[in-house]
Amino acid sequence: MFPWSCVLCGVQGSPGAFCSTCLDSLRDRAVRAGASACPRCALPAGPYANLRRGCGVCRGRPLGFDAALALGPYEGAFRELCLRLKHRRDAWLAPPLCDLWAGTRLDAIDRIALPMEAWVVPVPLHWRRHYGRGYNQAEALARELARRLGRSFHSPLRRVIHAPKLAALSAPARARVLREAFRARVSSAIRGRTVLLVDDVLTTGATCGAAARALKRAGAKQVVVAVVARTDRSWA
Ligand SMILES: [Zn+2]
Ligand SMILES: [Zn+2]
Repeated sequence: MFPWSCVLCGVQGSPGAFCSTCLDSLRDRAVRAGASACPRCALPAGPYANLRRGCGVCRGRPLGFDAALALGPYEGAFRELCLRLKHRRDAWLAPPLCDLWAGTRLDAIDRIALPMEAWVVPVPLHWRRHYGRGYNQAEALARELARRLGRSFHSPLRRVIHAPKLAALSAPARARVLREAFRARVSSAIRGRTVLLVDDVLTTGATCGAAARALKRAGAKQVVVAVVARTDRSWA
């Protein structure tokens, strides 16, 4: 079904998923969020903060990944789009979101010097959940992002622990459950590789951190997290 009305405001006759007003506003918020985000954990940090080793929240804290890029905060339109993207029927939102991501984060990709031979890797669902839903929004995003960034898509991660009620857990409990949740297929191809690890939302960092550690155990050199939205919930 082609969206003839804007998914955010419902105005008729939109050129794509968003009308030009909503698209301008999304782009504007994404640019502003990028300008003040911590390059290490993607929390809003203010434009004048010295972020060389991370922000006041993440500095000195082992995250598992080396850098994180989010399109915007998990609120308003970005939150609404993330919630819709969880459903297979709204998988068509992945391409316009990745257009927006690539359109506003190319300078950041340049800044971290993402190698051309970097892999774009989705955070997997547990197979039981995947077959229940038949769809993983992180994979939909990773495939589109790989195409737009001219890097190749790979899926070397497996989620070996099924933890459906993670959201209800405290951050330390979640990190404990997740520590062993991922395995990466060990192959010589991943050794020394930079990985762009893709998920829809970055919350406490525990999921992406655990996936990043599994990639590093398999030999990856650097892991950069790429998400649509960042919650303001930190590790505290
Ligand atoms: Zn609109
Ligand atoms: Zn930070």
